[in-house]
Order: sequence, then structure tokens, then C-alpha cells
Amino acid sequence: MSSEPRRGRLIVISGPSGSGKSTLWKRLVQLPGVAFSVSATTRPPRPGEVNGRDYRFVSDEDFDRLVREDAFLEWAEVHGRRYGTLLEDVRHALEAGKDLVLEIDVQGAEQVRRHREFPSVSIFVMPPSLEELERRLRGRRSETEEQIQRRLSIAAGEMQRAGEYDHKVVNDDLERMVAEVCTILGYEEPAEEGRG
Ligand code: 5GP
Repeated sequence: MSSEPRRGRLIVISGPSGSGKSTLWKRLVQLPGVAFSVSATTRPPRPGEVNGRDYRFVSDEDFDRLVREDAFLEWAEVHGRRYGTLLEDVRHALEAGKDLVLEIDVQGAEQVRRHREFPSVSIFVMPPSLEELERRLRGRRSETEEQIQRRLSIAAGEMQRAGEYDHKVVNDDLERMVAEVCTILGYEEPAEEGRG
């Protein structure tokens, strides 16, 4: 008696910068039936980022207006800039029966959990240790020393909130972690690395 169309879920992914959550996100959104939302942000684009694909890059005034209009499912200030998930993206994906993957911070995840209108599953990606996280952040060579220290102290705070999530996965090995998340979510196959 399951004639009702499948209803999509929100898949919330959080974790410290350098934990591998973005790589996990990229792999999940390649799977059939999985969509992603393009967050609005007040941070300026980085080289190579495209408006409307990576983020919707908006002014502070535009962000204020979106908040006033209740356009966001959730929004938060992260590293001094504001980021938010648009309800329009959420409704569009879930009504189409897709799961929508949100790669958002711990404050946003809390708001999604409280929202209740949409079914959600939350996953926190842990680095194996803070030492390993520091090594990875340094390996990226994209941040200054000050930014690295800032990200590490934020990471320690975020990791203390991992218990608020439905699931916690440790990224000790990327393929193993992707497979674990696919099992948690009931997805058939992780997409192959390096394709597409
Ligand atoms: P970045 O500026 O490096 O792309 O992202 C910085 C942080 O913002 C990441 O931790 C990411 O998870 C978070 N973030 C990106 N989009 C959103 C969003 O729509 N809502 C919230 N709450 N956090 C977001």
C-alpha cells in the first residue's frame, strides 16, 4: 500500500573545515535522486567560483531583505560572513521526491532540526584528530597562519556539538567514510572518485 510518491529528505552535512565534508557532499550529489541547493552568501567569490553555481553571491542589503521576507530555511554567520539555504530550493527538491544535501554549519543544522516541516537526517563528519585536521589545512596552502588558527579553534567548538547530529562519521579513509554514509542513507552505490 505504498502508492504515495516518495518524499525527499534533507540530508544535513556538517563538519570542520578540512574534515572532508565538501568531498563527501560532491560524491553524494552525483547519486541519482539526490539534489543540492545553492546557498546565498555575503562572502565575496573566490577565484574560479561562479555565481549561481557555487553560491548566490549577494550584498548585505540583499541578504537582509531575504531574511525579512522569510526566504531562508536557515541562515547563520560563519567566519564573519552570512550564509543561508533558500526555502525555494528546499521545496523544489523535496516536492520532486529528491533528497536535498545541505552542507551547512552547526548553527544552521540546529535550525533545520527545529524546523520540523521537512524530514531530515543529519551527519557530522569528524576528522580523525585535531592534529590531522591541522595537517590537512596546512596542506591546502590556501589559508594564512591566522586563518588556520581561527579555523582550528572553530573546529574544536564544532566537534563538541557532533553529539547533536543523528550520525557521526570519522573521515579516517575517504572511500570507507563515503560508503558508511551511503549505508546510513540507504543509497545504493557511492559514485566513483574522479569522474564527472
Ligand atoms: P566557505 O566560505 O568555505 O564556502 O564555507 C564556510 C562555511 O559556511 C562552511 O562550514 C559551510 O558549511 C558553511 N555554509 C555554507 N553554506 C551555508 C548555508 O547555507 N548555511 C549555513 N548555516 N552554513 C553554510
